[in-house]
Amino acid sequence: MKIEHLGIAVKSLGLSDDLFAKLLGKEHYKQEKVESEGVTTSFYQLGDSKIELLEATKTDSPIAKFIEKKGEGIHHIAFGVENILEEIERLKKNGFIFISETPKEGADNKLVVFLHPKSTNGVLVELCQEKQ
Ligand code: ZN
Repeated sequence: MKIEHLGIAVKSLGLSDDLFAKLLGKEHYKQEKVESEGVTTSFYQLGDSKIELLEATKTDSPIAKFIEKKGEGIHHIAFGVENILEEIERLKKNGFIFISETPKEGADNKLVVFLHPKSTNGVLVELCQEKQ
């Protein structure tokens, strides 16, 4: 596993893209809507890892609910894995709980699943695998 990206929930991609471009000294390399998750994402490459900014596209999106409860900030940590199905099995055997055990299409050409924060010290963990 490696840290593939950190997800940050923001209210406005317009404002936060400006902010992160200044902070990181580079522009995002893509912006992508993930309809099923109700988010628009913006990605910045940082060495081997990335920053993913997430803006809600609708009021019942998980990102909208997160911001309502906790405000803007770090939303999840994503671990890149070679074989997501094997990792899901391995982690299930070790007692971890998944929000959904079926990988689905995420942003940036990935298959993704999320672990429930109650089994990971309050941290929302994403596993992601590059789509073949
Ligand atoms: Zn992510």
